[in-house]
Amino acid sequence: MAMKYDLRLLEASSRTPRVRPQETGSLAFNRRAFLKAASLPCLAACAGAVIGRQDAVPIFAASLAEDESQFIREAKFYDKQPYRKIKCKLCPRECVIDDRERGYCGVRENRGGTYYTLVHSRVVTSHVDPIEKKPFFHFLPGTVAFSIATAGCNVNCKMCQNWDISQVRPEQVRSSYAPPQRVAELAQQNQCPTIAYTYSEPVIFYEYLADCAEASHGLGVKSVVVTGGYIQQEPLQKLCRQVDAIKVDLKAYSEKFYKEVVNAEMKPVLDALVTIRKHGVWNEIVYLVIPTLNDSDAEFKGLAKWVKSELGPDVPLHFSRFHPEYLLKNLPPTPVETLERAKAIADAEGLHYVYIGNVPGHPAENTYCPKCRKIIVERTGYTVSTVHIHNNKCQYCQQAIPGVWRA
Ligand code: SF4
Repeated sequence: MAMKYDLRLLEASSRTPRVRPQETGSLAFNRRAFLKAASLPCLAACAGAVIGRQDAVPIFAASLAEDESQFIREAKFYDKQPYRKIKCKLCPRECVIDDRERGYCGVRENRGGTYYTLVHSRVVTSHVDPIEKKPFFHFLPGTVAFSIATAGCNVNCKMCQNWDISQVRPEQVRSSYAPPQRVAELAQQNQCPTIAYTYSEPVIFYEYLADCAEASHGLGVKSVVVTGGYIQQEPLQKLCRQVDAIKVDLKAYSEKFYKEVVNAEMKPVLDALVTIRKHGVWNEIVYLVIPTLNDSDAEFKGLAKWVKSELGPDVPLHFSRFHPEYLLKNLPPTPVETLERAKAIADAEGLHYVYIGNVPGHPAENTYCPKCRKIIVERTGYTVSTVHIHNNKCQYCQQAIPGVWRA
């Protein structure tokens, strides 16, 4: 039965956002892309996909903000320093910021020795997306997520697919006032069992995320986070107690790559993955495979060994296809053979759930039972056609299958 979406706008506006949100490491799959894809015979199966219903329809209409004060709240994680300076303790960058200055992410400002977020309730894009687009493959498959983002990011990936919202200051993009309770209600009205904090970097809108998660839990709506995982331990531990699933984009298994391509460090991201796992929050990992930059056998092997030893073999690992974007338009899309090589290496290391992403129709989009090897979740692109999991077990052989399969 087709779902009905409540598209009543929070603010009247004749204009829609200029942004075209894409998940990091996912296909540029807006309405035009979908129609194009659906017209290809090899993607015919996508024609009835969940994506075809309302993806890329903005929920909140964006406009240039008239009242800035409605977006401002005191930040949660920072230390006061002499001379009205502050040190931000939200992410490992630990910006030290003078009065009237902002941190690296551009959405936090020191005003007289008190630190503020400028993006609370300041949504720049909002959509109803398939949860498979995030991607979460072991979390409520076949459902849709009410997806929101603010401007800003605490890293600067050269392959960013959403640079037009992540690499700007809040004043540079149209936004809407979307208070947490309203977000929770709209998710519920649109029959979304989850709210996804996504597209840009949820770490930098931490306070808003936390308030939305609290409001949505009050209505029985879960919260899932799509993040680069570049966050300090204290805020992460609190976040783990507030949200239901976290997908981490591990950009590479190399400090060199993180330094040169992301302008960050890898170690805090690995630490974050361990913490998420310890807290029992459902976690999946996406690794965007970029030709010549992070596609060596040694890197795939090192990654798979680390995941298995530190997180265990049951964490889903998605090897995702790169498409030229932003500052890496000089590189070609990832050959499918490279993704298959990565998967073969990770499989051989003993990981149970290794997927290939952004290659619609590839057999490695399906979930296979690690014991009987039968297909237990069948997917094409963002479409889930069958699920053979009952009471968290394979219907064929009763093997326990980790994940959250029912709301
Ligand atoms: S969250 Fe922003 S201000 Fe805080 S340390 Fe990270 S980049 Fe700097």
